[in-house]
Amino acid sequence: MPFVPQRVFFESGSLDYPMAQRILQWFKAHPGVNINMLKPRQRIPHSPGASPKDAYRASKQTLVVGIRKTLNFQSCKPSAHYQLPLVTGCMGQCEYCYLNTQFGKNPYLRVYVNLEEILNQAFSYIESRKPDLTVFEGAATSDPLPVEPYTHSLADTIQFLARQEHSRFRFVTKYDDVDSLLNIDHQGHTMIRFSINADHIIQNYEHFTPPLQKRLQAAAKVVKSGYPLGFIIGPVILFDGWESQYQAMFNELKEHLSRHSNDSIRFEIISHRFTSRAKNTIMDVYPASSLPMDESQRKYKYGQFGYGKYVYPPEQMTSIQNYFSQAVPAFFPEAKIDYII
Ligand code: SF4
Repeated sequence: MPFVPQRVFFESGSLDYPMAQRILQWFKAHPGVNINMLKPRQRIPHSPGASPKDAYRASKQTLVVGIRKTLNFQSCKPSAHYQLPLVTGCMGQCEYCYLNTQFGKNPYLRVYVNLEEILNQAFSYIESRKPDLTVFEGAATSDPLPVEPYTHSLADTIQFLARQEHSRFRFVTKYDDVDSLLNIDHQGHTMIRFSINADHIIQNYEHFTPPLQKRLQAAAKVVKSGYPLGFIIGPVILFDGWESQYQAMFNELKEHLSRHSNDSIRFEIISHRFTSRAKNTIMDVYPASSLPMDESQRKYKYGQFGYGKYVYPPEQMTSIQNYFSQAVPAFFPEAKIDYII
């Protein structure tokens, strides 16, 4: 499922890089994609007067090919030391997505073509932290897999970090097009995680993403290729019959992984939460959303950056914690739960 946008914009100077040339050739071979060259400092035009919903949808169909200028990596605690900036944005349209708040109503996808400079910077961070390991997260502000067919950024990064003894790499995806990553030298330095959920959540809220079965088929390929494997289950949303649907999800997961060694699988489980700002953005772009965002049904939790979020109240959090802390070992006795929050 590669991302084929309606419009591609090449920033000035980007075509000096081989990756941009490759992307240009890829889209020239896909008729129907509108290819545009931006002048220096020219902004990406957006439709004047478009409703937030239409502007959001148009942006989700827009790819920007650019040069990453800021090479100071942001920190990515607690799961990694640094964000590795390969891609920002995502072709998916999950109603609850944290990117909806981060990028507002113009959530273009942006790929960075100066990969060599980005990886050189990663190398400096690794050297400065030696002999400690340095862990990079490749999906902090994106899902990088749907653009991989033409960027090759993940494959190049995986191979580069395979050669760095003191580094580890991880990224998470909801997509399934992993074939180009299967036969490359990864040295076990990269953990590929899949974001999965109960069918009810996928069907109702995760638009333009593959169904669970496809994600699990991809996970089976990844584990067969010797990559460390992880799953993010989230957002966990409580609805009528949630336990039996998550049970069905685990059954399917077990079935797909049964032929492969799965004693080092990691799980991260994240309950649904929202901020007031996220709710406003979601209601602008998905006015008919049925996401449960009634503040009176939630507990307000103060955040470290001055704005808090609405989480499930303690009793419901306890139900979530009890369910998953029993279900994971029942299906995967050797797996490790990193956290249930
Ligand atoms: Fe957001 Fe992930 Fe859905 Fe993309 S696939 S819209 S990053 S939640």
